Amino acid sequence: MAHNARLDHRDPLVFDTHELGRRPGALQRLTRTVPAPRDLGIQSVIAVPEGAPVELDIRLESVMEGVLVTGTARARAEGECVRCLEPVGLELEADFQELFSYPDADDRGRVIAEPGDDAEDDEDRFFLEDGLFDLEPLLRDAVVLALPMQPVCQDDCPGLCSECGARLADDPDHHHDAVDIRWAALQGLAGSLEDGEKDEMSGDATRSARVDEKQEK
Ligand SMILES: [Zn+2]
Ligand SMILES: [Zn+2]
Repeated sequence: MAHNARLDHRDPLVFDTHELGRRPGALQRLTRTVPAPRDLGIQSVIAVPEGAPVELDIRLESVMEGVLVTGTARARAEGECVRCLEPVGLELEADFQELFSYPDADDRGRVIAEPGDDAEDDEDRFFLEDGLFDLEPLLRDAVVLALPMQPVCQDDCPGLCSECGARLADDPDHHHDAVDIRWAALQGLAGSLEDGEKDEMSGDATRSARVDEKQEK
């Protein structure tokens, strides 16, 4: 996680907590519509298109060690059905909550003051930087969790015909009577060998089967 990059207050996903102040218990509600950052979602499965509006509803709460950020993001995600490949759109609602600590929280009485087994947790901790925080990593995690790994156009989507690729939901009675032309040719050939006699029909079939064989090699 890139804690090092300096936050830019002009970034729509960067929020300022100065107005909230540091008195524990102080609350502030914010709503903001931001353009979706790139790759917001599950790559090549379903995602919020870059630049599409993401509505954010956020509550900031001042606590001893920092600012507790709780919120909901709403956006429209787009992808395709994993069974039939039809476009799938869904209204997404993703909740998130995270504590952004003051960089000097340790001095001001952090609740969990056990430096020993904190090492691992520290990696996942978020910090305020000059009173600013970046919502983007939270938003990304929340959106991924709220999205289906295997989106379908409808729960019982029957998928595609394994023979011709037709979308079965459009054509529930879809089936194939006739076998493939090449199959027919081979069957004709087999028939003529069994019979031991060649009529015109099977003769044609034999020839076309040979042509097919050549083309394949
Ligand atoms: Zn489908
Ligand atoms: Zn088919």
